[in-house]
Amino acid sequence: MTRVHNFSAGPAALPEPVLQRIREDIPDWGGTGMSVMEISHRSKEFVDCAERAEASIRKLLGISDAYSVLFMQGGATLQFAMATLNLSAADDTVDYVITGSWGKKAVKEAGRFANVNIAADAEDSGYTHVPAEDSWQKTSDAAYLHYTPNETIGGVEFQFVPDTGDVPLVVDMSSTILSRPVDVDRFGLIYAGAQKNIGPAGLTLAIIRNDLLDKARPDAPTLMTYKAFADSGSMTNTPPVFAWYVAGLVFDHLLEQGGLEAVAAVNQRKSSKLYSAIDASDFYSNPVAEDSRSWMNVPFVLADPSLDPVFLEESKAAGLTNLKGHRSVGGMRASIYNAVSEASVDALIDFMQQFENTHG
Ligand code: PMP
Repeated sequence: MTRVHNFSAGPAALPEPVLQRIREDIPDWGGTGMSVMEISHRSKEFVDCAERAEASIRKLLGISDAYSVLFMQGGATLQFAMATLNLSAADDTVDYVITGSWGKKAVKEAGRFANVNIAADAEDSGYTHVPAEDSWQKTSDAAYLHYTPNETIGGVEFQFVPDTGDVPLVVDMSSTILSRPVDVDRFGLIYAGAQKNIGPAGLTLAIIRNDLLDKARPDAPTLMTYKAFADSGSMTNTPPVFAWYVAGLVFDHLLEQGGLEAVAAVNQRKSSKLYSAIDASDFYSNPVAEDSRSWMNVPFVLADPSLDPVFLEESKAAGLTNLKGHRSVGGMRASIYNAVSEASVDALIDFMQQFENTHG
């Protein structure tokens, strides 16, 4: 078996022990004589598996009983609309802080259903920094304040949790969840598409404070209300069983690694050595302010963009894949989620140095 060094932004690398376990489980899952994809989601076997996954993520993130953990579909993109439909009324104001493309998309959806106030927008820096919180124009009675703790395309990450008093914080944690510990109690709603640090695409995780479950608009479709999922153990309709099962394996794998403190230490080391290599060179650069740099997505450009195709071709030949930057920004991006090992980051740094020596 040959595995590449996979820097995909998502769907992204999964931990190898999880892949091996899936391979073992597929033909005969837990002695059922079936795979997890071929059994009722209401069977005892699957319900047990689903509950174990929930217990594991509760343990990983330290989620209290004051919160519901929901396993949904529709991706983070559906959450952009769901957050607004579930947490605000049509004449409410909702605050948004924009630090990149995903925040902008969230605003677009929210604007269909409520009055959006842009509390801060980092567009003036080309989305290369997180605006200082004391410059934000917050609404005192906003239904919530939404931000994107990690912008996957620009590689801009918050290193702090804003203080909004009684206004609930709503966050799109798609590309940073499980990269480090978070204090869940600070948030009203956390949501994340699974396909980075959680598991396969098709699953969306939401963690919502229970007192917010009753605020959905009466005309919201059932499958777009958090309450329906909370009341049914996320079995309002047929859930994405395979993705849910894999997510449970990933959660257990992270617990075995020592939990999120241990995971964070590795992630910090991985990202800081990559940024140091970029900063030490005139051949590569990263435009993001040092206090806003992402641990998970490291974009970088070559001083001579005409070398981009050569870089991509030679890196691929060296077993380093998916380094092309997002189509909207160009350049390169190394996504170094939890399942990307430190050895893969070392291999990337070595390759970058060799490439610079040859072409610089
Ligand atoms: N938000 C963020 C921060 C993302 O990185 C992505 C996907 N890359 C999305 C939202 C959209 O997610 P999905 O494709 O699951 O709807």
